[in-house]
Amino acid sequence: MITTNHTTAEELYETLKNIKVTGSVCQYSLRKCEEMTPLINEIRDLKEKKNAVILVHSYVNPEIIYGVGDYVGDSYGLSKNAMETTADTIVFAAVRFMGETAQILNPEKEVLIPGLEDGCSLADAITAERVRALRQEFSEYTFVCYINTTAAVKAECDVCVTSANVYDIVEKIPNDKIYFLPDELMGQNLVKEMAKRGVAKDVRYFEGKCYVHEEYDTEQIFKIRTEYPQAKVVSHPECKPEVCDQSDFVGSTSQMLQYMETTDAHQFLMLTECGLSARLQKEFPDKHLVGTCTLCRYMKSNTLEDIRRVLTNPTPRDRVVIDKEVVQRAKKCIEAMFEFSA
Ligand code: SF4
Repeated sequence: MITTNHTTAEELYETLKNIKVTGSVCQYSLRKCEEMTPLINEIRDLKEKKNAVILVHSYVNPEIIYGVGDYVGDSYGLSKNAMETTADTIVFAAVRFMGETAQILNPEKEVLIPGLEDGCSLADAITAERVRALRQEFSEYTFVCYINTTAAVKAECDVCVTSANVYDIVEKIPNDKIYFLPDELMGQNLVKEMAKRGVAKDVRYFEGKCYVHEEYDTEQIFKIRTEYPQAKVVSHPECKPEVCDQSDFVGSTSQMLQYMETTDAHQFLMLTECGLSARLQKEFPDKHLVGTCTLCRYMKSNTLEDIRRVLTNPTPRDRVVIDKEVVQRAKKCIEAMFEFSA
């Protein structure tokens, strides 16, 4: 699905005007929209010319999501979109490990990464060498990796999971010994959830953290609950277990949006990256945010200018290139996720 119609500054402003998070980063005036519109229309033309599709993570700036994006979502949804697209080129406005996942699922397509800071504090926490060493030490364990890992790390693991399916997949894995990596906080949440479900699993986990989600604490929740007793607290499983315990809902970004859409509540404290708060303001204008959110510098490094650059003159660094043998092994790990989720 590629949108080729041009937009006007007025139409763009109408789309973005309700978004008011994070100071000047994600706030839009008609003037700002007038400045962005020519570039947005140029990118739309380039997409058509190159038969390209632009996948955008919910944490990326709203002008990219609503200006040039073809699909928006979380890691799991976007990896499914990447599998289904007929485009020749995938521009992945997110971070590198997500572009790698798209490349693994589409080895014949060109995958381009526009963000100049394309890391992730979780994906960067562990290397393939470290996983190999852990596998020797814990040889009886099934190695489960979060999707926030490099292709090389996925190639060393048995099953990949996302924040949307981690609990259900771990429950289904026949082995009762699980090594989960790289997210320590999600690992702790996994241990608690298995106990809650009455599932006997010996779960070990690695010590990586998402620097955005580890910021949140229970003090913020108590403060908001005192000030706004009607507010619902929604959090991501990359947050601390005590934060998840105090939340009304815990889930992936897509699950969080679905919860907010379907619940009768009108006030929400969202404990995740600010991009999701912006989506809430745009997509459900009668729902209101309370409290503050945190920015991911990696996701926010995606810009319209860099999307134009990768579509016109990509450098070797912008292209995702993965060793063929790594692609084969990492694909098995991702396919195991789809099989367990079926
Ligand atoms: S929000 Fe956290 S997990 Fe997501 S890309 Fe940023 S650092 Fe990585």
